[in-house]
Amino acid sequence: MRADVAIVGGGLVGSALAYGLSREGARVVVLDEGDDAYRASRGNFGLVWVQSKGDGMAEYAAWSRNSAGLWPGLEAALTEETGIDLGLRQPGGIEPCIGEAEYRDYAAQIARMEAQGGVGANDARMIDADEARRLVPALGPEVVGARYSPHDGHVNPLHLLRALHTANAARGVDYRPHHRVISIEPDNGSFVVQTERGPVSAGRVVLAAGLGNGALDKDVALTVPTAPERGHILVTERLAPFLDIPVGRVRQTEEGSVMFGASAEDVGFDTGLNPAIFADIADRARRVFPVLANTRIVRLWSALRIMSPDGFPIYEESVEHPGAFVVTCHSGVTLAAAHAIDLAPQLLQPGFNQSFQAFSARRFDVQAAA
Ligand SMILES: Cc1cc2nc3c(=O)[nH]c(=O)nc-3n(C[C@H](O)[C@H](O)[C@H](O)COP(=O)(O)OP(=O)(O)OC[C@H]3O[C@@H](n4cnc5c(N)ncnc54)[C@H](O)[C@@H]3O)c2cc1C
Repeated sequence: MRADVAIVGGGLVGSALAYGLSREGARVVVLDEGDDAYRASRGNFGLVWVQSKGDGMAEYAAWSRNSAGLWPGLEAALTEETGIDLGLRQPGGIEPCIGEAEYRDYAAQIARMEAQGGVGANDARMIDADEARRLVPALGPEVVGARYSPHDGHVNPLHLLRALHTANAARGVDYRPHHRVISIEPDNGSFVVQTERGPVSAGRVVLAAGLGNGALDKDVALTVPTAPERGHILVTERLAPFLDIPVGRVRQTEEGSVMFGASAEDVGFDTGLNPAIFADIADRARRVFPVLANTRIVRLWSALRIMSPDGFPIYEESVEHPGAFVVTCHSGVTLAAAHAIDLAPQLLQPGFNQSFQAFSARRFDVQAAA
């Protein structure tokens, strides 16, 4: 049977879109690779983060804020449908500054973003050391202040992915693992998606394959200029609760373990571990939270972000082959709610490129020509 929509990729982006499309009554098939694939969705930090998103693109700032606002609704729906607790908490968040230079940089970013217009709704502001310590008493003496937004939060990203897959299965979404897509053939207004296990026909096709999109985009006359960016994450043993709100590069999970992260390296598709980066991350975490100084690290890993040249999402429908789309971003946790609730229904409507004009990959042509 022909699907209404074939989604290439079953990570957070493809799964959130499949969920949103199934709520619209669409027949959806999700074609996914095997376990050896690069999957940002299984290696990320779990922030639902607003305060720093959109420096350089007001529309992205507004879109991130919008998604944070939609998150409680997504969580409620997924928990009701699956019984899975996503651990969503949105108490606000801070990014602590070690030293005056960091404080000035963050303050300058807020001023820059406010000047863009349309981003005031992220309500980011600088707070001094006293206010930061009232919010987070465990901050160390090196912290001179922080950037704060009341809209930031965090979630268990693995529970999110499992809840989306579980809800999708219950809704009849046809999830096919070990179906790597090899090519996409436009076929008289619909598409034949060739997988390693045979063809799948669909009226629409969405590239949501993360770092895999670049091998398929030309088949449907799209351009998806993304590259991997490696991030490392460390996890401690379980500790008594000391951190009520997420702190940019440090968060305490529901279970008590503390995650540190946010490194960024350009090393191609290398998912190896860099001890120097781990040392830097641990050192900063210890300076921000001296209470962590003698804590044991029990797990560490690296994973690859999916980065466009300016770091903002790419959402686009092919002009040459309408019905073929790309949806990719580097904040698929934060944007899961916007993807499921606001973006997915628009994949079924005319006018997608008008709605998401700012997110078109054509912005890179303009920059190249300028
Ligand atoms: C270290 C790190 C920390 C992060 N922290 C955060 C955070 O705190 N908050 C936040 O919002 N975001 C964060 N992110 C980003 C977030 O994880 C990603 O934006 C999100 O996971 C992207 O999901 P995706 O579905 O696009 O990609 P992926 O998770 O990579 O999934 C892509 C899927 O496509 C499949 N695929 C690829 N090619 C093909 C093909 N040819 N055929 C079929 N299937 C294919 C793969 O198998 C995979 O399952 C972080 C990322 C990293 C690496």
